[in-house]
Amino acid sequence: MSELAAEAEKLDAADELAGVRAQFVLDTGSDHAADAVGVYLDGNSLGALPAGVPGRVEDVVRRQWGELRIRSWDESGWWTAPERIGDRIAPLVGAAAGQIVVGDSTSVNVFKALVGAVRLAGEGRDEIVVDATTFPTDGYIAESAARMTGCTLRPVTPAEVPGALGDRTAAVLLNHVDYRTGRLHDLPALTAAVHAAGAVVVWDLCHSAGALPVGLDEHGVDLAVGCTYKYLNGGPGSPAYLYVRRSLQDRFDSPLPGWNSHAEPFGMRPAYEPAAGAVRGRVGTPDILSMLALEAALEVWDGDGVSIGAVRAKSLALSDFFLRCVDSYVPAGRVESVTPAAHAERGSRSRCAVRTPET
Ligand SMILES: *Cc1c(COP(=O)(O)O)cnc(C)c1O
Repeated sequence: MSELAAEAEKLDAADELAGVRAQFVLDTGSDHAADAVGVYLDGNSLGALPAGVPGRVEDVVRRQWGELRIRSWDESGWWTAPERIGDRIAPLVGAAAGQIVVGDSTSVNVFKALVGAVRLAGEGRDEIVVDATTFPTDGYIAESAARMTGCTLRPVTPAEVPGALGDRTAAVLLNHVDYRTGRLHDLPALTAAVHAAGAVVVWDLCHSAGALPVGLDEHGVDLAVGCTYKYLNGGPGSPAYLYVRRSLQDRFDSPLPGWNSHAEPFGMRPAYEPAAGAVRGRVGTPDILSMLALEAALEVWDGDGVSIGAVRAKSLALSDFFLRCVDSYVPAGRVESVTPAAHAERGSRSRCAVRTPET
């Protein structure tokens, strides 16, 4: 056995999270030929299926919908699911309860957060700074949010953000982890820089929530959004979430004030009056089937020792080991790691690029 294979076995034997694997539907090898067993590494795109989800979805459809029907809005807790599930995500991103609401897609939540941020920033500030290397949807939405709010959009690289801030900056939209390179950005320092300029920061957590500690409350983040189908295993198209810091909630003015965020949704009033709290981020009727699949998926975090710290430690150990394998198997200079080697700058995966031979 090679030295690296022996090392891998040793790491596996000492892995505190090894037991968590049984909570997911994954290839086991028992009923496949050994060479057909897949090792699933795509948690950054579609998290694997937690074993408890199919049974829950069946119950939601057959009993809650099929038998209780409309009573389930109350009796099965459908109506309050967006806030309740938000409170389950909260500890994973370092937020106290009452600040996260689940619903809509990440794209829609970027829109709510960014327009809301410009409105919070107030008069005299007419620039939106956006991460130019962002996932395209964030950039498209930022461009439209800028046009709607009469702002100028300034796309810059995250390294250029501090230099781009000034007394005209209204809002800044940043990614915690770059979706292509896996680079982890310095959320505490960038948040502090945005605040020092008097502006409002919006963080996109799609590639960090569920993979590494975020510390939203600790670092004073204003607004944040993220998806739940990547590292939170919510399933294809599961709803995203919006975080609004408690101290900003009374002033948060959503650009999509639907009846679900009304202070009295069943009052059916002609005039809009926003609800208090995170609920203010809701829009219309929640997508209950997806949302309750997500709620069941989040139960994998309930087990002993499944903390975000433990997941981060394992993720770094895996990518460290992967980089050592690349070093030892690939001829020097042929492949380079696009993802920074330093733990402080590395998200939850490592990406390598093949260098084209020099001519
Ligand atoms: C995955 C991802 C999205 C996806 O947006 P949807 O509206 O859920 O399709 C948005 N932004 C970032 C940074 C992402 O990684």
